[in-house]
Amino acid sequence: MLVGMVEELHPQCSAKGCRASAAWQLLWNNPKLHTPEYRKTWLACDEHRLSLGAFLEARSFLKEVTPFVSSEDAGVS
Ligand SMILES: [Zn+2]
Repeated sequence: MLVGMVEELHPQCSAKGCRASAAWQLLWNNPKLHTPEYRKTWLACDEHRLSLGAFLEARSFLKEVTPFVSSEDAGVS
């Protein structure tokens, strides 16, 4: 019942200009910038999972895509 007050904690898609809720997390690593075990995380909505993933994959940065589950968000539309 209190979730309406925590808007900045509501995880959003990382795509530019997209304010959709995140449904996926893309874990990636740029070997020029990061140590091999480091994972940078982008959040993506259903729509942008493929385009963000393709961007990372084209650069061989993409390591893993996993469903993003935020239990706090249950009931928020
Ligand atoms: Zn999006």
